[in-house]
Amino acid sequence: MTRHYNFCAGPAALPTAVLKRARDELLDYHGHGLSVMEMSHRGEDFVAIAERSEVDLRELLAIPDNYRVLFTQGGASLQFAALPYNLLGAGGRANFVHTGIWGKKAISETRHLFGDVHVAASSEENGHSAVPRQQEIVLSADAAYLHYTANETIGGLAFDYIPEAVRPDGTPVPLVCDMSSSILSAPLDVAKFGVIYAGAQKNIGPAGLVVVIVRDDLLDRARDDMPTLFGYRALAEAGSMVNTPATYSWYLAGLVFDWLKQDIGGLTAMAAINARKAARLYAAIDGSGLYANPVTLRNRSRMNVPFVLADPRLERPFLEEAEAAGLLNLKGHRSVGGMRASLYNAVSEAAVEALTDFMADFEKRRG
Ligand code: PMP
Repeated sequence: MTRHYNFCAGPAALPTAVLKRARDELLDYHGHGLSVMEMSHRGEDFVAIAERSEVDLRELLAIPDNYRVLFTQGGASLQFAALPYNLLGAGGRANFVHTGIWGKKAISETRHLFGDVHVAASSEENGHSAVPRQQEIVLSADAAYLHYTANETIGGLAFDYIPEAVRPDGTPVPLVCDMSSSILSAPLDVAKFGVIYAGAQKNIGPAGLVVVIVRDDLLDRARDDMPTLFGYRALAEAGSMVNTPATYSWYLAGLVFDWLKQDIGGLTAMAAINARKAARLYAAIDGSGLYANPVTLRNRSRMNVPFVLADPRLERPFLEEAEAAGLLNLKGHRSVGGMRASLYNAVSEAAVEALTDFMADFEKRRG
């Protein structure tokens, strides 16, 4: 068996230790004679798995007691719709900071469902190479909340600060963050947020699961016309079991949380590893004459590193040779082209070293 180095943006690499444990527990979970996939979600065993995963996630992120953790479905994209339904019940407008393709999709969905939105700041003018500074973010007087994307997965553009969400008259509004591609990569001050949501298939586990962390005073702002399954209150009250949850993805997420705690030693340790990985790859890019990354230094993502080759004709051989060397999924997103290496938690330092060695060697031979 060979496991290659996988730089996929999502569904992304999972820790080998997690997959081995899942393999060992697959046919006969803890001597119960069945797999987790075959259990009732309301049975004692699965409820214990679900509760353990929440306890571990709360511990990892130091989630305060006045926040509810939901394990739901529909991808992060469904939250683009669920959020305005949950938060616009008392009126007002959704406000956004637009820093790339995912933020734009969140804006479009809200506009499609509820009409007007307010874009409080955008990095469109600089080609999404730098995120707006705090003083450039101007909310509308009727802002109901401010939404931003902590890490734009395609552009490799990351916020280097947590924005403040205040109306021009100084009234604070909830800060809502799409953290799909950066959650659990470093410690986080959850108390600064109203809602955090993240699709699982990068740093949490397999696709099919979405984690929503919501401050409990926001559970009462929902619109009446909301589909039941969108509702944060309904999910919170039912322990995320309004209907059948994505049980196996949820179980694997629990194994990932356990791996982060036991094998890595928590998010401070994880952040240090991630910083080293990113520093190595950016140094390889900046130190070369062949590779380039367009993002301003302060906003370079530690999770997704897009880069182009000075001669685009070399892109194909680069990808082919990388794959032959066991370095998978380096092709950039179809909307932007170029290359992208995603360095999520499960991508090891050895993987990044193999990549930078390959890049240097390729440049020497072909650059
Ligand atoms: N937001 C961000 C930042 C993402 O990276 C993605 C997926 N790559 C999404 C939202 C959409 O996620 P999903 O496919 O789970 O709907």
